[in-house]
Parts: sequence; structure tokens; C-alpha cells
Amino acid sequence: MANQANDTMDKLVSLCKRRGFIFQSSEIYGGINSCYDYGPMGIELKKNIKELWWKAMVYERDDVEGLDASILMHPRVWEASGHVEGFTDPMIDCRETKARYREDQLLVYVPKSGDGPMYAFPEGDPEYITKKLKKARVDVGDYDIRPLSGIPVEQYARVIGPDTTVAGTLTEPRLFNLMFKTFMGPVESDANIVFLRPETAQGIYVNFHNVREAARQKLPFGIAQIGKAFRNEITPGNFVFRMREFEQMEMQYFVKPGEDERFFEYWKQERLAWYERLGIRRENLQFHQHGEGELAHYAKAAFDIQFKFPFGWSEIEGIHNRTDFDLVRHQEFSRKNLQYFDQDAGEKYIPYVVETSTGVDRLLLTALADAYEEEAERVVLRFSPAVAPMKAAILPLVKKDGMAETAQNIVKGLRKHFRVFYDESGAVGRRYRRQDEIGTPYCFTVDGQTMEDGSVTVRERDSMAQERISQDQIMNYLVDRVM
Ligand code: ATP
Repeated sequence: MANQANDTMDKLVSLCKRRGFIFQSSEIYGGINSCYDYGPMGIELKKNIKELWWKAMVYERDDVEGLDASILMHPRVWEASGHVEGFTDPMIDCRETKARYREDQLLVYVPKSGDGPMYAFPEGDPEYITKKLKKARVDVGDYDIRPLSGIPVEQYARVIGPDTTVAGTLTEPRLFNLMFKTFMGPVESDANIVFLRPETAQGIYVNFHNVREAARQKLPFGIAQIGKAFRNEITPGNFVFRMREFEQMEMQYFVKPGEDERFFEYWKQERLAWYERLGIRRENLQFHQHGEGELAHYAKAAFDIQFKFPFGWSEIEGIHNRTDFDLVRHQEFSRKNLQYFDQDAGEKYIPYVVETSTGVDRLLLTALADAYEEEAERVVLRFSPAVAPMKAAILPLVKKDGMAETAQNIVKGLRKHFRVFYDESGAVGRRYRRQDEIGTPYCFTVDGQTMEDGSVTVRERDSMAQERISQDQIMNYLVDRVM
């Protein structure tokens, strides 16, 4: 299972590079860990995902407004939010291999007998450890599995790290703040430290009154924002699943206290339903409820939406009932009144917040993984037309006899409305395969018959079925199917 998962991920990574979806950042210099660049196809896919989110959140509703706050904010914001103090992960190093782990992502095999070595392994990778235990001639039945965080540090001498065969090489967990720091202005002193925002949400909270007043909104209403966020992750990985620079799509919905639970339920369902618009298969999505121990310091209730990635079920979106935590803290730290005057009820209160928070890059990987299929003769990305980077390809069967010119004229007409691709090189079968690999839903081929009666062949990606339509109908054909 683990190997098959790696295999699928390797294939996706290589397809992404080959076809221009995603490149390693600064690749000619050997790359920089966990930063990625989006190529010609990747940028289209990303833009489509963002547009679908923005449409659902802002255009199609009266009660959500848009915002684009700056990445650098007043340093006090991050004190109020709790990030300076608490946005930390427990980090463990292996003295021997220099590998670094997050304590909360390690599990251990603990001998039932009470003594003997314990074997640590990364969560979600059971095969990895089974192999290692086999090698060490250990019978798995003699062991319990526990989180490493439950093992007292005094017993670390007995723990064998994931990448070594000797015990006692793991360091004690140390808390590590995930915020990137830099300096504002020419002087590099403590007084000039600013942070790259680790989430977009705080830009929304501090603009609560600005947006509400400018847009003349009453509660309940929300503010939506798409923008970059930065986290100095200890264990980045799984391609664009966990990066250090990434993009978030967050919406904070302000409600009257007491109405929070109802809206929490409402947004859970809304958000799950949205993934259908993205074309993600329902069987690959599930809710995961945070237990007591998992809840963030600000949250009263939290659900993740998880997707079944090749490497296992993992979070793609968090839906949180944040209570009045954020606005209360900002009121305290800024000394500005952040209460809302409810005219209907004739009372003042600090609103509660229901948050929906997801990552563009993670959703892009979701769309890719969900769409990827290998068939005997081809690799195909079965994107829903709404997210597909190219909506159509226009292909002259051969370059001569006026076919190329006719095809280019068709392209010219379509370009104002759709992202389309023109390709005249190579056998038409190979050109179809190339479009399959980037997930283009329709190919229109101009051939000898086109020159006689004005009809073209339409070839549909998934079924590979072909039919003929009049070239005047291409625009309508696409309007009906890809918008
Ligand atoms: P984790 O526990 O996996 O570190 P988190 O619970 O801290 O994640 P949130 O703070 O809830 O994540 O972030 C909301 C969303 O932002 C996530 O669901 C994910 O889609 C996205 N996201 C968070 N961190 C990253 C990252 N390092 N790279 C890419 N996307 C991310």
C-alpha cells in the first residue's frame, strides 16, 4: 500500500513537471525545499479553483464580502491572535541521522512485556515499520502502538528512531515557532521584527468594522479572502500538500452568540457540497471531527474535510467554531471597541465567528489526485470541465489544404471566452493523448470534410467518443458543457 502510494505520487509529480503544472522552485540551483512554482497548466488550474471558490462565497451570496489584506501586519496582531506564544510544533531531532520529526506525528511500538526497545515510526506509514520490525525479528503481536507524546522523556533511551537501528538517538521535543520573521525598515533590531502572516484570517478580524460599515452589512455576514500564507513547517512534504509558502482561501462568518452552532452546521454542509462543484468524487471525501485533545486554543468545535490522497486520508479544509476568541483578543490588545450593535435586538455584543479555511495548493493536489487515471493506452486527468486548465483543443488534421487557417480562425473566435489550445504538430492520435494528460475535456478536429461542409469532429475526453457538429456550433457546445 505504502509503495503503491509512493508510486502514484511519483507519477503525479512527474506528470506535473512534464506537462507544466508544477515545478520545484529554483530548480536550476538544486531547488529549495517545500516551495513550488506553477507552470502554464498549473496556473490555470489554480485560477479556476480560486474562481469557483470566490463565485460560491462572494458572487452568489448577499452576505459575504471580499477582502485582500496585506501579508505584513502590525506585530501586535500576532500577540493578540496567540501565534507568538502558541503557534508552535514540538520538534524532535535524531542525533545520528539528523532527521527531524514532529513529535505529534510519531507513533511507537511499545513492548507489552514492559521492557526492551520501543520502535518509533511516522504516523500513516505502517508498512514502513512492519518491514523494519521484521528485520529486527520482532513479533508485532507483542507490542502496543502509542503516540510518542505519551512516552516520558526519561524512557527515550529505549526508543529506536524511524530512520536508525540504534536506541536513544532522539532528542527531547522542543517547541518551535512556525512563523517566518523578518525586519521592517533598514534596522535589524527586535523592535523592527515583523512576521509573514501564517494565516489570512487575522487580516479579516482586524477589518471587521471597516468591511461591515463600508458594505453596510448586518449580522450574520462573512468576509472572504484568498491570499498567501507562510509557515516554517518542520516536516514539509507530500509535494504541495505541506509547503512553507502556500495560498489560503478563508471565510470568517460573524454571527450573534447562540447562533454559532446552527451556522457551524450550515457551513459544514455548504462546504462539503462545494467540493462536488469542483468535481471531486464523494467517496473520496469525509468529515473528521476534532476530539478534545485536537481542538485548537480558540475553537469550541472543529471539523476537517478530508480527502483520500494516495498517502492516506488527510485534511483539506478546516471548519471551526472560533467563538468570540479572536475579536475579544483584538479588542483587548488594540483597545478599540469591536462590539457590534444589534439594532433589532437593541443590544451590543462581540460576534462569534464560524471559519471555513482551506488551501489552494492542497485543493489543486486534490483535484489532480482525484482526476488521475491510468488506462491501457493513455494517462488521463478526468477534471470536471470547470477546473480543467484548457477547455478545448483545436486541431487541424494536417497543416495543408487550408485546414490550419480554418482551425486558427476557430481559435480566434473562442479565445475571447475560453482558454483553448491550438496544436498542429504530430499525428492526431498523439495530440489527443497530450490533451488527455492535461485533462482537456473536448478536442475539435478540422479535417477534409470541414473544408467541404463546415463540420468538425468533436472528441470527448472520457469516453473518447466522436461526433460531428457544425463549426458554427462550437461556441454553444462549449457554453453548455464547460461553464
Ligand atoms: P496541519 O495540522 O496539517 O498542520 P492545520 O490544522 O494547522 O494543518 P489550518 O491552520 O487549519 O491547518 O489551515 C487551514 C488550511 O490551510 C488547511 O486545511 C490546508 O488546506 C491549508 N494549509 C495549512 N498549512 C498548509 C501548508 N503548510 N501547505 C499547504 N496548505 C496548507
